[in-house]
Amino acid sequence: MAKHYSIAIDGPAGAGKSTIARHLAKELGYYYVDTGAIYRTVAYFLDLLGISPKDTDGVERYLDELTVAIAYDEEGVQHMLMNGMDVTEDIRTQDISQKASLVSALPITREMLLDLQRDMAKRHNVVMDGRDIGTVVLPKADVKIFLTASSQVRAKRRTEELLAKGRQAQYEKILQEIEQRDHQDTHRAIAPLRQARDAVLVDTSELDIEGAVAAVREIVGKKIPL
Ligand code: C5P
Repeated sequence: MAKHYSIAIDGPAGAGKSTIARHLAKELGYYYVDTGAIYRTVAYFLDLLGISPKDTDGVERYLDELTVAIAYDEEGVQHMLMNGMDVTEDIRTQDISQKASLVSALPITREMLLDLQRDMAKRHNVVMDGRDIGTVVLPKADVKIFLTASSQVRAKRRTEELLAKGRQAQYEKILQEIEQRDHQDTHRAIAPLRQARDAVLVDTSELDIEGAVAAVREIVGKKIPL
């Protein structure tokens, strides 16, 4: 099988992972795989059934009835399919963010989604972002980046992003949610959010998008042919 390159970008919510990963994937002609969307799809499915992400027995019972798939449209945009239904837009709420964080802490959820993620990297060149890509999903990724920024900067960005979309957003509330999600993601027993030993740290607190993309591109360029 031909060699496929993989670039793993991990980090907390709001550090700029998806924007940077999308830019880079487009430039390189790679697939962009947003793994957070996969966990969100599981959370959304359970939410529709009224199962709390904290109800481990309920989650176990119903996960068998869920098939999660990833599809790409002609523009290369990732779509999430929940039992064949496109839920790409439905999964992007603050409520589902929190529920995804809770359900992703369960070993059964992570186990179920591992092959889907690894399979993408086996079949394509990928820029994959998430929390455990460099540590668990693709430990042999060609490039590993750990992207971070202060929680205040991340909350400010998220607030501005939502307001720009005409949605309601309160900085203080968003900051609190981000810090709560960071805590859950870094303290869970299985595949916690942490920097892989061989990942390069990029702090985007003081960088704009162009600056952050340039910093990441420079790291990537040292490891794989651009
Ligand atoms: O990246 P995003 O905010 O969409 O992720 C939603 C949640 O999914 C995260 O808070 C995290 O708990 C979980 N997640 C994960 N592992 C990944 C990607 C996301 O546990 N690789």
